[in-house]
Amino acid sequence: MHVYDHPTFHMACQQFDLVADRLDIPANDRDRLKYPKRALTVAVPVRRDDGKVEVFAGYRVQHHLTLGPTKGGMRYHPDMTLGEVAALAMWMSWKCALMNLPYGGAKGGVACDPGHMSAGELERLTRRFTQELIPFIGPQVDIPAPDLGTNEQVMAWMMDTYSVHAGHATPAVVTGKPVAIGGSLGRREATGRGVGYLISRAMDTIGLNASQATAAVQGFGNVGSVTAFSLARYGVKIIAVSDALGGTFNAGGLDLVKLQEHVTRTRTVANFPEGESIINEQLLTTPCDILVPAAMERQITAANVHRIQCRILAEGANGPTTPEADLVLDQRPDVFIIPDILCNAGGVVVSYFEWVQDLQSFFWTETEITDKLFRLLESAFNQTLTLSRKQKISMRMAALSLGVNRVREAKKLRGLFP
Ligand code: NAD
Repeated sequence: MHVYDHPTFHMACQQFDLVADRLDIPANDRDRLKYPKRALTVAVPVRRDDGKVEVFAGYRVQHHLTLGPTKGGMRYHPDMTLGEVAALAMWMSWKCALMNLPYGGAKGGVACDPGHMSAGELERLTRRFTQELIPFIGPQVDIPAPDLGTNEQVMAWMMDTYSVHAGHATPAVVTGKPVAIGGSLGRREATGRGVGYLISRAMDTIGLNASQATAAVQGFGNVGSVTAFSLARYGVKIIAVSDALGGTFNAGGLDLVKLQEHVTRTRTVANFPEGESIINEQLLTTPCDILVPAAMERQITAANVHRIQCRILAEGANGPTTPEADLVLDQRPDVFIIPDILCNAGGVVVSYFEWVQDLQSFFWTETEITDKLFRLLESAFNQTLTLSRKQKISMRMAALSLGVNRVREAKKLRGLFP
C-alpha cells in the first residue's frame, strides 16, 4: 500500500509484523488486520486574514470498524502526511483494544502550522475541514478528539459545525470539548494524569522511591505539562522540560508554577530565568530516573538510544521510540518501559467516558471519572506486566500482543463478508 509510504507507517507495520509473528497469525489474516479500512484526503480552502485563499491538505484514516465506531485525535502540524496519520490510526486500534474500549482506531488532521495562524483563520480552517468530513464522522461512525496542535476550542468548532448540519446539538460527535457544551470533567487532564499514575505503578514495580526520583519531560503541551504537575504531586523532582523551541534544566528541580506562568507569557519553556538552557537532544540524554517523551514520534532512535540514562521510560507521546532503538532497549533490563499504547491511554479512556456521558445525557463527577480511569489503567498495567513476565517479552510486545489479539479475535468471530 504505497499510498501510506512514510517512516512512521513503516515503523507501525514493523511492530505489527513482530507481534503477528509472535502470535503466529496466519498470512490470510495479517493484511486485513494491518491496513486501514478507510482513508480520506480532502482539500481545505481557507481565506487568510489578508484576503488570500490558501488550500491545506486534510486527512482522516479509520483503521478498523470491527468493534464499534472509530476514535482518535485530530492533529494540526505542518509535516502531517497520510502515512503518518495511518500509523497513528493503527496504534489507536491496538490502544483501544488493550483498554477494552468498543472502538476501532482513527486519526486525522490538517497539514498546517497553527502557531502561525490567527484564531479566525483556525476557526475557518476547522469548520471547512469538518464540513468536508461530515459523511465520514458521527457519534456511531467516527469520533475525533484533540491531539498535537488542537485543543478544546477546535473540538467546540467541530461539534458546532456538525450540529448545524444535523439540525440539533450533537455533543457525542467529538470528545475533548469544553465542559460547558458536553465535555467531561477531567478529560483535559486525563492523558497526563494517566501517565503520572502509570509511572507511580512502575516506580512501585522497580522499587523506586518517588521522593528521591527525578524526571525529564519532552514537550510541555497538554500531555507533558499535566504529566509534570502530576509527577510533582507524587513527590518527583522535575529537573528538565523542553518544547519545540528549546528546553530548560535545573538540577535542584524546576518550579512548575513559575514555569507555567513563563509559558503563558512567552508561549515556550525556552529562556526560563530559573533554569539553564538546553536543547531537546540534551533533554533526552539527561541523567534522570524517569524520562517522558511527550511530544512527537521517533525521538529515541538508534542514534541516541545508547545515551539514554533513565530507569523508567514513560511514552506519553505516540511512537516516540523506533524499532531499532527498541532492539537496544530490549537488552537493557535496567530501563522499564511503559509503552505508548498503555502509557497515554488515559486520554482515550476519558474520551470514551465523555462519549458515554453525552449519549446518555447524564454526567459524572470528576472523582468518579478519575476513579474509573485509574481502575482501567491498573487492570491494563497488570495484564501487560503479567504477560511480559510470563512470556519473557518486552512491555511493548506484551501490550501490542494484547491489543492485536483482541481485534483479531473480534474479526474471527464476525467472519469475513461476504
Ligand atoms: P500539544 O500540542 O498540546 O503539545 C505538544 C508539545 O510538544 C508542545 O509543547 C510542543 O512545543 C512540543 N513539541 C512539538 N514538537 C517538538 C519537538 N520536535 N521537540 C520537542 N518538543 C516538541 O500536544 P499533546 O496533546 O500534548 O500531544 C503530545 C503527544 O501526546 C503526541 O504524540 C500525541 O499524539 C500524544 N497524545 C496526546 C493525547 C491527548 O489527549 N492530547 C492523548 C494520547 C497521546
